[in-house]
Amino acid sequence: MGQAKLRGTFEQRAANAKTNARAQFPDSIQCNNCQAWLTEIEPLDIRGIPGMRLAGGAVCAGCAHTTWVLDGTPEALAGMQGYLDDAQDEEAKIGFVKKPQA
Ligand SMILES: [Zn+2]
Repeated sequence: MGQAKLRGTFEQRAANAKTNARAQFPDSIQCNNCQAWLTEIEPLDIRGIPGMRLAGGAVCAGCAHTTWVLDGTPEALAGMQGYLDDAQDEEAKIGFVKKPQA
């Protein structure tokens, strides 16, 4: 049996995955409620949602409103809107931000 390749700990790999996920989002998005610029975007795990390419939420420090960044097919976006509506128990305001062109 050969020497196992040195790999990071689970925590390190999780941190790397999170950094990679964050890198897919714009550096900042604008709050849907008060137009403040938000840079703390928390990526959502959307691997189980067909058609979704990108999803994340940013909680505004000024007004505590959550602005969502979503990208995917129209069907996936509609489903995501329904999910967020249910989760928040109020109509979610969706901030559509185009994924930056690589
Ligand atoms: Zn705000």
